Amino acid sequence: MMTASMHETMMSGNEAFARGALEAGIGFCASYPGTPSTEIATTLQKMAEEHDIYVEWSVNEKVALEAAAGASWAGVPALCSMKSLGLNVASDFLLNMNLSGTGSGGLVIIVCDDPRGHSSSNEQDSRFYAKAAQIPLLEPSTYQEAKDIVPFALKLSQEYEVPVLIRSTTRLSHSRGLVTKGNFPKRKWKAGQLKDNLFNVPTPHLKHRDLLDKMEQISKVFDESSWNTLPIEKDVDVLIISSGISRRYSEEAIQLLDAKNIDVLNLVTTYPLPRKIVVDALKTTKRVLFSEEIDPFVEEEVRSLAIELNSISEFHGKKNRSVPAFGEMTTDVMLETVADLMKIKRNKNEQIGSGILIPRQLTFCAGCTHRNFYWAVRKVRKRVHDKLVVAGDIGCYSLGVFYDRSMTTMQAMGSGIGVATGLGQLERFGFDFKVLAVAGDSTFFHSCIPGLVNAKHKNANLTFVILDNETTA
Ligand code: SF4
Repeated sequence: MMTASMHETMMSGNEAFARGALEAGIGFCASYPGTPSTEIATTLQKMAEEHDIYVEWSVNEKVALEAAAGASWAGVPALCSMKSLGLNVASDFLLNMNLSGTGSGGLVIIVCDDPRGHSSSNEQDSRFYAKAAQIPLLEPSTYQEAKDIVPFALKLSQEYEVPVLIRSTTRLSHSRGLVTKGNFPKRKWKAGQLKDNLFNVPTPHLKHRDLLDKMEQISKVFDESSWNTLPIEKDVDVLIISSGISRRYSEEAIQLLDAKNIDVLNLVTTYPLPRKIVVDALKTTKRVLFSEEIDPFVEEEVRSLAIELNSISEFHGKKNRSVPAFGEMTTDVMLETVADLMKIKRNKNEQIGSGILIPRQLTFCAGCTHRNFYWAVRKVRKRVHDKLVVAGDIGCYSLGVFYDRSMTTMQAMGSGIGVATGLGQLERFGFDFKVLAVAGDSTFFHSCIPGLVNAKHKNANLTFVILDNETTA
């Protein structure tokens, strides 16, 4: 059992990110809510007055990132947090701003992925945006690292004038652990003049060249970084290369199995790959097991390095399905994988986490007004003899998918009205369904307005319902 010292406090991963932002000296935070990232901005919001910082819920993630970039360009240290799918929305701006560079204020982006899609419409791995944008990627594996990584990320961003991406996943963001707090810095910055040429035209290729040069320098910083840990330097039968919260699952599995001759190389600075420590680690083993959420991101980087080095290591991970290439990593997954790989006998029925929890169906809160709406949709469906298409959207009302065909489609923020716009043109081809688009008020402002303008301009035959609960729930 852990006991807290005087300087330690229990924090969730998201609270630790917020604390880290204050210890980094962030002056500006813009965000759009979405599980599992929301508590980063809500925590900062509660402390905004005391610390004289500006925190806003922006209308969507792209605007949030643009607002944070504006602050950074004016010399104000900036943070932008969002959930996985939010980075898709912000990516248009990100893949331009990476070339223009951040300002002297620096800019840290925290993205929280949702393996298994507990509260999301997919389980995308946002780390690929770091590769697409050629920006540094950091993956803390503990609550302490979640706090401490933010000042490191901001310093890196200020020094190289690139946005730095920090990636968390649900279990790190939402579980809690002990964190040793640091001090708040004295404010040294003042908002002022923006530098010239904060755009890429007419020579985006030269800006790209400059960004690649910066990444080469950052790669050297990561090579020497003490964030990446290989605890014991000796030859082992199996080396686990982990990142993020998967490190904890790996260490716990080793402990529970009492496995010998196995070690964990945990990577926090995951892109660009810290080649030096990986090269050294590959020399200590013939068998490597990858432990990461969601896609084989680190695995692919290490595998391609191994090809370059003519390494003879045997690799086990998501690529060869030694571990599932979908869903969450858990201690149970690592127990089974390590036991199989090392031929350790164990009771297959023994489960650490998943067997204990009772599954629950997602549903609306008791008394939620959305229930009434879907009751009405069912009545309408009956009245039009099932000739009804409901193009749904993202929000609490998405739970309509569980209510007897109350929703036909549901993809991305704002896509309900967009899909309905297309369906609303199909009468000429014999389509004889009534078309209903549904969105919440927050989603409406987030991304429905262009779709609605398109529908009106093209005279699409549809009915659009905005479910206004006067908040982003
Ligand atoms: S809209 Fe409000 S009441 Fe309805 S499910 Fe969401 S949080 Fe619950």
